[in-house]
Amino acid sequence: MRQVSETVDVLVVGGGTAGHIAAIQAARAGVTTSVVEAGTMLGGTMTAGGVWMPNHFFTQTGPVVQGIPWELYTASKEAEGLPIPDYRRRRPVETPGYYSYISVPVYAAVAEAAAVAAGVVLHYHEFVAEIRADGDWWEVVSLGRGVRRTTRCRELIDASGDSDAVRALGLRTTRSEVSQPGTLQYQFAGIEFEQLWKEEVQTLYEEAMADGTLRKGDWAYANMEPFIYYLRHGGHNGTHIYDADTSDADGQTRADVEGRERMLRMFRFVRERIPGAERASIRYMAPFALARETYHTVGEYTVVRDDFVRATRFDDAVCNAFNYIDLHSQEVGCEVSFIDDPDAIPTVPFRALVPEGSRRITVAGRNVSANRIAFAGIRAQCTCMAMGQATGAAAALAVQRGVASRDVPAADIVALTVEHGAVRPS
Ligand SMILES: Cc1cc2nc3c(=O)[nH]c(=O)nc-3n(C[C@H](O)[C@H](O)[C@H](O)COP(=O)(O)OP(=O)(O)OC[C@H]3O[C@@H](n4cnc5c(N)ncnc54)[C@H](O)[C@@H]3O)c2cc1C
Repeated sequence: MRQVSETVDVLVVGGGTAGHIAAIQAARAGVTTSVVEAGTMLGGTMTAGGVWMPNHFFTQTGPVVQGIPWELYTASKEAEGLPIPDYRRRRPVETPGYYSYISVPVYAAVAEAAAVAAGVVLHYHEFVAEIRADGDWWEVVSLGRGVRRTTRCRELIDASGDSDAVRALGLRTTRSEVSQPGTLQYQFAGIEFEQLWKEEVQTLYEEAMADGTLRKGDWAYANMEPFIYYLRHGGHNGTHIYDADTSDADGQTRADVEGRERMLRMFRFVRERIPGAERASIRYMAPFALARETYHTVGEYTVVRDDFVRATRFDDAVCNAFNYIDLHSQEVGCEVSFIDDPDAIPTVPFRALVPEGSRRITVAGRNVSANRIAFAGIRAQCTCMAMGQATGAAAALAVQRGVASRDVPAADIVALTVEHGAVRPS
């Protein structure tokens, strides 16, 4: 195995939804930055994971997340030759926000080009295994096929989704009493919607559930939507994997196997029993199953439900967190609740991104310190990306000032992100 040594100012653990934005922000602010990403591309859940639906850049009244996330989103639309929807003229349809969709290959390539142009050093196919402190430096060991890399850095950003760096350092994490289920993203094609026996579909689904052909969670939204909805969307984002824990390879393997079992069971049912769907095919399957939540970092502050629904005004707010509360469970299925006051925009306090008692490390994305209900709202992609931009700014300022990121004033973090196009938190 090749032994490689590197020194950078900032190392981002995980180049996913939050991590790729964090890295671009830090590098653009003028510090040397690398990303260690276990997967094969930037974007994590939103690209490789197949959740290509970033919520929310806009509310009904204006933009909530812009900056680097919006720049990459619009650049990807331009690359596709598609117009940017004018959100000021559109009315929201189902929810108080506006849905946006990305093309996975285009977005991943656009984000990667932006990272490379900013000078971010990318290490794909590598995972962070060990971290130790050496004075004011971190020494991070990452392993890839044939490579054992030791990176010395001043600041760490844990954007792993599962608080991997925080756990490697023995800092405090927590788990919800009942974690939200995971999902394997897949999509069927070839369902001839006009040919479907629409009246019969629900009865056929219920019969299959009763005779054991299908199992609970195969159609995750059964509590909210009839089965025809599943068929209309080709099953995308439609299956639950209970107790999915992707925070280590064993849990990831179990979730992958169960996800594919569920997909195949449903595929057989749809083709064999639904008139009009005999020619269904599987057009797409994400390469791995996703968890909605695993380990939350315990931060200097933990965002709770009331902070989210009442939009607590934090002195140290670093970004907005506008979304509905999207809670999935084995008992109920999916519960969605909206914030009553459309002008109330929740925010993320910097303290929720600073692991308790730590220095020179921040977290971004679904590692954020939040309790179960608040987390069900705060974990949306645009918020994760905005947290990434904030932590990238904090890390860069910390290195440039010779202080720890936790000591960088939130106002300075916001000022730097605003310089890079972000919206000032409400
Ligand atoms: C099924 C599902 C549906 C969802 N639907 C929506 C939706 O419609 N809209 C929306 O806005 N949000 C949605 N969400 C929520 C949102 O997608 C996630 O909360 C968000 O993408 C998480 O971002 P993240 O950066 O924390 O993690 P990720 O995007 O998962 O990134 C983490 C990255 O870290 C890497 N990594 C992990 N450990 C290591 C390590 N030790 N070393 C190196 N790399 C590592 C991973 O490979 C990954 O690329 C959904 C989530 C799920 C699971």
